This record gives sequence, C-alpha cells and structure tokens, in this order.
Amino acid sequence: MKKILVTGGAGFVGSHLCEKLLELGNHILCIDNYITGNKKNIETLLQNPHFEYKKHDITVPLFVEVDEIYHLACPASPIHYQNDAVQTIKTAVLGSINMLDLAKKIQKPILQASTSEVYGDPQEHPQNESYWGHVNPIGTRACYDEGKRCAETLFFDYHRQHKVTIKVARIFNTYGPNMAIHDGRVISNFITQALQNKPITIYGDGSQTRCFCFINDLITGLISFMKKPKKTTGPINLGNPHEISILELAKKIIKLTQSSSTINYKVLPDNDPKKRMPNIELAKKSLKWEPSTHLDEGLIKTITYFQNII
Ligand code: NAD
Ligand code: UDP
Repeated sequence: MKKILVTGGAGFVGSHLCEKLLELGNHILCIDNYITGNKKNIETLLQNPHFEYKKHDITVPLFVEVDEIYHLACPASPIHYQNDAVQTIKTAVLGSINMLDLAKKIQKPILQASTSEVYGDPQEHPQNESYWGHVNPIGTRACYDEGKRCAETLFFDYHRQHKVTIKVARIFNTYGPNMAIHDGRVISNFITQALQNKPITIYGDGSQTRCFCFINDLITGLISFMKKPKKTTGPINLGNPHEISILELAKKIIKLTQSSSTINYKVLPDNDPKKRMPNIELAKKSLKWEPSTHLDEGLIKTITYFQNII
C-alpha cells in the first residue's frame, strides 16, 4: 500500500483524486487550509481508516514520509485567486518550494497541477506544450498565471539541479460534482443560475471559447501520468479538446435544465482569454489517455449534483 500526499485534497479536483486513489488501495494524507475547499467534499472519505486529513497551509514547510505527492493546493477560480492576490502567489510559489523541498528530502515523485493559464490569452490555437504563452505579468490574473508559471520553473529547476522526479500536468477547464456553489467559475455559475431561473451572467458577448473536461477523465489522466517513468516529466496538457463558446454553453445549460433563465450580459474582465483549446496529442501518445465523457453527459451529472445541494 502506497502512502500518498494530496495537497488541496478538500478542493474540487483534490477530493475526487483522494477518492480514486483510496479506491485503488492507497493510504491518503490530505492536507488543506480550507481557503476554497470544503470539508463536505471529504466527509465520506473521513470514515475510511486509510484516509488521513491534516489542516495545514502549504506556505509553511511540512515534513511527512510519503511515497508520492500530488500538489494541487491553490485557489483556481478567478474571483477567489484575485480576492487575495498576494496569498495566491505565495501559495503558488512558496507552497511549491515547500513541497519540492519535501520531495527532494524524501526522494519521491511530485506531480504539479499546473494550468492552461500558463498560455495566458493565447496567440496560438490550439495550444501545444511547446507554446510559451502570452501573459500580462501585471494584470489582475497574473497572481495565478505568473504564480503557476513560476511554479513550473521551480519544478524544472528542482528536477535539473536536485534530480527530483517531477510530473507537470497543464490542466484545462475541468468541471463536475464537488465544485463549490459560489466558486465563480462558469459552469457552476451557469448551472446554479439556471436551476434557480435567475439570469445567466455572460461576461462580454459570450464569443470567447473554452474546452471543458469532466472531472473523472482528468483524474484518470493525472493518475496515469504519475505512473510513468522518471523521464516523463511533461509538461503535458490534460483537457478535452471539444471547443465551445460561452454563449453556446449558456444555451446548452438552459436547455438541459429546462430553465426559464434569460441572459444578462456583463462586462468582460481584464485579460480574459478569448479562446482556449488543448492539443492533447502528447497525452494520447505518452499516457495513452484521452477524455471519453461527452459535454452533455458530464453536464447532466453536474446538474444532478447541484440539484441535490441547492
Ligand atoms: P479548488 O479551489 O476547489 O481547490 C484548491 C484547494 O487548495 C482548496 O481545497 C483550498 O482550500 C486549498 N488551498 C489553497 N491554498 C492553500 C494553501 N495555502 N495551503 C493549503 N491548502 C490550500 O480548485 P480546484 O479546481 O480543485 O483546483 C485544484 C488545482 O488544480 C489547483 O492547483 C488549480 O490551479 C489546478 N487547476 C484546476 C483547474 C480546474 O478547471 N478545476 C484547471 C487548471 C488547473
Ligand atoms: N464567465 C462568464 N460568466 C460567469 C463566469 C465566467 O461569462 O458567470 C466566462 C469568463 O469570463 C471566461 C469563461 O466564462 O471567459 C470561463 O471562466 P472561468 O472563470 O470558469 O474560467 P477561466 O476564465 O479561468 O478559464
């Protein structure tokens, strides 16, 4: 039985990852400071004797003996990461240094939950791992984007300099059960608004695009990546290449929820990327991974989750 550390394990992605890793017969140590996570996400896991939870802020060093580290702790929704921008960048940078120091000390592999935001408002479409990105370093999204870019630099420097085994996954927009109602991300906002027949808030004219990956697909990708030999460092894009505009997404959610919501156009936030789509050829080839959940199928599961908690 492996002992696995999951930072940010009480969050949306982390809670699913802990659940799956437990199911696969591992012992999990979940650490989180609950800044955007929720104890409800791990409530059922707490009954399992192989699930340990420790409240800890990763900007403070930590020493634990584990076999693998999945490093996810960081707020991911624009409203949350901009709410305390300095804390976000501290979490991304100091938190990564602390976790990399741990990986170096115990000589175990560490996976970084990086993001498509490292590509910024991309000028290449779709985005390949070789693209260096287009990020405004002083904009309101920079605390997250540049924090995650710096974290990637740290991962590769610890790998080159200290021979730490690293796995850098660039995660594209992911959705599913356990997203927080007030998370502020587009799918949770649209579904909660539609279910309550409230106006759907579209920022800008809704022509911007995103690609949405269902959580179960992402989790399979992360676990496959960790299993790969030392030389597979990434970065590797993990996402669903099905591209959709935000206006089309709103219409789809209205239809699936049979809602009477209208659309309320609001100001587009600064530096909001106009389009985003992963090239996943590398993940297909090296991880033998690709997402299999159709957007409608994943949305229906997510709608059911929100129906139960609203
Ligand atoms: P989330 O906000 O639901 O989860 C993040 C978790 O980290 C929360 O439980 C939060 O309390 C915890 N956390 C934050 N700062 C911490 C700190 N200083 N110390 C300890 N715990 C801390 O977000 P998520 O969607 O689950 O994202 C998880 C990871 O995946 C993040 O690193 C994010 O950047 C990355 N990611 C997510 C997406 C996505 O679409 N969900 C896309 C790209 C990358
Ligand atoms: N968005 C929107 N209405 C909302 C929330 C988000 O129109 O209520 C838009 C947002 O401006 C962006 C897209 O949806 O263009 C995806 O936003 P999200 O915050 O989910 O992710 P990110 O911008 O980080 O990809």
